[in-house]
Amino acid sequence: MIIYLDGEFVPKERAVVSVFDHGLLYGDGVFEGIRAYRNRVFKLDDHIDRLYDSAKSLAMEIPIAKAEMKEVVLETCRRNGLRDAYIRLVVTRGVGDLGLDPRKCPRPTIFCVAASIQLYPEEFYEKGLDVITVSTRRNLAVACNPRVKSLNYLNNIYARIEANLAGVPEAIILNADGYVAEATGDNIFIIKKGVLSTPPTYIGALEGVTRNAVMELAAQRGIPVVEKVFTLHDVYIADECFLTGTAAEVIPTVKVDGRLIGDGRPGEMTRELIAAFRELTKVDGPVIFPEELSSCGCGCGK
Ligand code: PMP
Repeated sequence: MIIYLDGEFVPKERAVVSVFDHGLLYGDGVFEGIRAYRNRVFKLDDHIDRLYDSAKSLAMEIPIAKAEMKEVVLETCRRNGLRDAYIRLVVTRGVGDLGLDPRKCPRPTIFCVAASIQLYPEEFYEKGLDVITVSTRRNLAVACNPRVKSLNYLNNIYARIEANLAGVPEAIILNADGYVAEATGDNIFIIKKGVLSTPPTYIGALEGVTRNAVMELAAQRGIPVVEKVFTLHDVYIADECFLTGTAAEVIPTVKVDGRLIGDGRPGEMTRELIAAFRELTKVDGPVIFPEELSSCGCGCGK
């Protein structure tokens, strides 16, 4: 495995960061989880934009331009011979002293890892997930804004521990006011009477790249889409529910806190959006190995 680290491509064994790196000492940094499908890096521009927005919010200047960062992602895939991958791109505040002052960190650390993907079993997409709501509330936007994809993931990890203890693969997190925010690593959608709703990100959710792609796909299909504040009651009485995320893609949720959603099977609209999303992954994003691009442009190898 070859890793990009601060301007170099190095073998995994040499891809190490300092114990004085503030990403490690304080969770001071930003990251992206990105997917490559069939020779294309899906929604790469959106991920790079969010990375730079997150850094800006933390008053952190990324020392390379966006175009170069995109090339880092593509080249990391190339060096590892990967056409389908889960990519982790990380920018930390960099090496400083033991104090938390970011001014002591002259240069951010940048690394990019491209690995093969660990997928949810296909069964989860066919049968849907059984999830719970956890007692951990989402971080307050005025304290540690969930819209910033920072290395500070303890809030999500607390929630994930609760999900693990309950034996479920994902969990719903409410914000401090009790409104549905998102899942531990995914956004949430509900469908009621043909209308697709997801919470606005200001209530405490990441502006997911998959979320935005699904909203666009729904709109293109004439499905009404709204960003709306809602409660668990709305989830329990929804006709359909699903989660979205780079790793999970679009995944039906059929049981929440013991209540069946709809008839307890993935709904029609959810299935339509899963299919549409899978189609989109075949054609979206810059190509990793252009020489392999097929005449139809989909990376199918024909
Ligand atoms: N919410 C949280 C807290 C996440 O960590 C993620 C995954 N990065 C998402 C939502 C989904 O975002 P995306 O679709 O960009 O992966």
